[in-house]
Amino acid sequence: MPDTKSGRDKQARDEERRQIERDISEARERGDETEPPDDGPVACYRRGCTEPAAFEVTERYQEETGKGAVEATALLCADHTAAEAPANLDSAYEEYVFRIEPLSAGNDD
Ligand SMILES: [Zn+2]
Repeated sequence: MPDTKSGRDKQARDEERRQIERDISEARERGDETEPPDDGPVACYRRGCTEPAAFEVTERYQEETGKGAVEATALLCADHTAAEAPANLDSAYEEYVFRIEPLSAGNDD
């Protein structure tokens, strides 16, 4: 029955094509999900600032509710670090911290 054979060939071709399309769409989905590696220079946290972050500014204070210490960290460029100041002195406690640490940029040691 020639019809059956040609039908089977067509089915095989269709299956093959579907498999290829499936591979392509899966590859596309994987591509969309892949995030760029997270080791590039970090941008300043300040909205609208595109300078690379140069300092890590950390403030640790007691939460108003008394539930515990809160540690807020921001990566800022030099200009914004200079403009930074303690914001939660009202919530200071024994272990209050306001700390500025330079980021080691591009040091591969
Ligand atoms: Zn900045």
